[in-house]
Amino acid sequence: MLPFMVGAILKRGDELNFCCSCLSGEALALSFIFIASRSHSLCPCSLVLPSVSSMASFPLAAVTATLKLHPQFPKCPPTSYPPAKGQSISLQKSHRFTHLDLDFREPLLLSKEGTEEVEQSFYVPLLQQCLEKCCYSDTQVVHGHVVKTGTHEDVFVMSFLVNIYAKCGNMDDAKRAFDNMPRKNVVAWTTLMVGYVQNSQPKYAIHVFQEMLHSGSYPSVYSLAIALNACTYLQCLKLGDQFHAYIIKYNVDFDTSVGNALCSLYSKCGRLELALRAFRRIKEKNVISWTSAISACGDNAGAVKGLGLFVEMVSEDTKPNEFTLTSVLSQCCEIVSLDFGTQVHVMCIKFGYKSNLRVRNSLLYLYLKCGCVGEAQMLFDGMDDASLVTWNAMIAGHAQMMELTKDNLSACHSGSEALNLFSMLSRSGMKPDLFTFSSVLSVCSRMVALEQGEQVHAQTIKTGFFSDVVVGTSLINMYNKCGSTERASKAFLEMSTRTMILWTSMITGFALHGMSQQALHLFEDMRLAGVRPNQITFVGVLAACSHAGMVNEALNYFEIMQKKYKIKPVMDHYSCMVDMYVRLGQLEEAFNFIKKMNLEPSEFIWSNLIAGCIIHGYLELGCNAAEKLLSLEPKDTETYALLLNIYLSAGRLEDVSRVREMMKEEKVGKLKDWSWISIKDKVYSFETNDKAYPQNSLVCESLEDLLAKAEKLGYRMVESMEISDEEEEEKTPSPIIYHSEKLAITFGLENLPCSSPIRVVKSTLMCRDCHDFIKYVSTLTGREIIVKDSKRLHKFVEGQCSCGDFGSFL
Ligand SMILES: [Zn+2]
Ligand SMILES: [Zn+2]
Repeated sequence: MLPFMVGAILKRGDELNFCCSCLSGEALALSFIFIASRSHSLCPCSLVLPSVSSMASFPLAAVTATLKLHPQFPKCPPTSYPPAKGQSISLQKSHRFTHLDLDFREPLLLSKEGTEEVEQSFYVPLLQQCLEKCCYSDTQVVHGHVVKTGTHEDVFVMSFLVNIYAKCGNMDDAKRAFDNMPRKNVVAWTTLMVGYVQNSQPKYAIHVFQEMLHSGSYPSVYSLAIALNACTYLQCLKLGDQFHAYIIKYNVDFDTSVGNALCSLYSKCGRLELALRAFRRIKEKNVISWTSAISACGDNAGAVKGLGLFVEMVSEDTKPNEFTLTSVLSQCCEIVSLDFGTQVHVMCIKFGYKSNLRVRNSLLYLYLKCGCVGEAQMLFDGMDDASLVTWNAMIAGHAQMMELTKDNLSACHSGSEALNLFSMLSRSGMKPDLFTFSSVLSVCSRMVALEQGEQVHAQTIKTGFFSDVVVGTSLINMYNKCGSTERASKAFLEMSTRTMILWTSMITGFALHGMSQQALHLFEDMRLAGVRPNQITFVGVLAACSHAGMVNEALNYFEIMQKKYKIKPVMDHYSCMVDMYVRLGQLEEAFNFIKKMNLEPSEFIWSNLIAGCIIHGYLELGCNAAEKLLSLEPKDTETYALLLNIYLSAGRLEDVSRVREMMKEEKVGKLKDWSWISIKDKVYSFETNDKAYPQNSLVCESLEDLLAKAEKLGYRMVESMEISDEEEEEKTPSPIIYHSEKLAITFGLENLPCSSPIRVVKSTLMCRDCHDFIKYVSTLTGREIIVKDSKRLHKFVEGQCSCGDFGSFL
């Protein structure tokens, strides 16, 4: 509501039929237009309105009441300003007219002659034009004229000017115009407050409110709502509480605009219960009240409550608007409730939001989130006005499905669908934004699709997003994850601004590829550049030390991290340290180190220790670690494989059958082993021993060829523990030869140009045999081969792997 307009409106005998909009100042602007045109037109947002009579007026006592404000509040900006150059407001400078439209200029020129008797109504259409166009220079001309004709005594005209200056983002001029008003009413004060809130200076809005009280003006419910909005903006609950107390004292908390503002305030401050209580106190709830309450639930992890409120809203016959619907749909997403979402979809159609873009985007995202690609695609296909938001929702939806799905084959389908959509978007001529780029780059990283990643890189340069920090970081991550540190560091050097996250990504990238010296040099550069490292930076640094077996350096950095940067070590830091000792074969030191940890070692640490024990023959220690690992929950198939391996190596057969028994109980199936490789725009996937496809039998033949050649170079097959469902010990000659990554690599060798590296993603850990074999293949073919398994990235070049032959293997 706009209660402060009552006087003006009632004077004209019109009925107020105004919506309170979202207190964004839009309402204020509109109110001027409304008065000016004396029309009954509804606000464009067509919201439900309370009647004039419901507006609260303040008791006289309110005038003397002063608020005790938070002591930290800044003083209002100076009331006198140094004169800005060339801004004397005089109509004599006729060159100012050059900015004006003809229709604008004429009335001013006409009035130039007899300036004495100009009325308020004369300026209204001109001011309206200035407001609509948000034209600063025109406003100044009109302002000059107003001063010249003496109309600046008129509160209405001057408040209008304050409003326009604020709308143009010029709060200095707004404040100056306000200060020069000989009389000020609540409209004027509130206009200035709205201006400050709109221009992100909420503290000044509060101060204006305080001054208003001191000056003896009545605050209106609307000015209170604006003050609450300022508190919301500041997320200052303490101050908000003071206002709330004031509101309760004068018994206006049932007012719609006050209640809505209170609800938003508490919601933004994370106090859902208080927000809902404020909502319940509202006597005449309008659609904004309901939407605020529903969004409050959405913003504070109360989706179920929010949907409940929505049902209540609809049963009370309040028609939702697009904001209600989008909030409800995003809450359906939150709890992945397709059932509810489908009903909301029906409602969207019923209430006429079938073609509303925002609503359709939310629906689309919901369907994708719930895995209903078909429905999402149908909605998408039916949209000829798809916005970038729509495209982004489609791309991000597929990217997210890729992350969520357990089945690697569908993950890779979702990924290629996302890439496909991106190339369609590029062809459509629409310009992608940073959200598009970051989702598509994350898909490229996950799929190790370097070719597509490079195309995206080219586009970021073309569209000017390359210098964006978020996009830059995603690019560097993508290159690193696709195994190309050269391109990553090139992009890193080209970035104009380097944030801590960017430095960290690059350091971690080097560490990931076993380029320890580069990682440590970059870390020192980062410190020289005065950028403060964080927890994750140190994970990269320690990983680099661990990789190079630099024990003293690692211990040194571990200490610097805690003493100089006051960073408490977390599990990842300990994992790096343990990894280092294990690599060096110093298993006893590793065990001593974890004894000193102030955290319970994770599954990853125990697995790492066990793998190390198997390699270096510390079977006794390994079995101790296995007991610890067995006591941890939950265990995956890979963990069981490791446990079987250590007990088998130690010859502890009763433990082997104990583990097998546990596996049966927990219904641990076979390892779902998939590998995939992307060639051009297609992704090919392979399953171990998968000879069913005709293409695979050819691949198997070539693989057998490769095997024979590798054996001539000295390769010997290593048997490792196969996890079988039962004790079906019938072993086909050597199924290990058809492991999925071997098939994918062979396929890549045949189908990719000679110069291009082979990039394969594998769903589980590699086995030791595959790791060995691929080293030989890299020598035989002279190709660079990159395999990303479930734990590590292995880059094979000329018979060497970047992991230094260390890692957990099956
Ligand atoms: Zn293997
Ligand atoms: Zn390796």
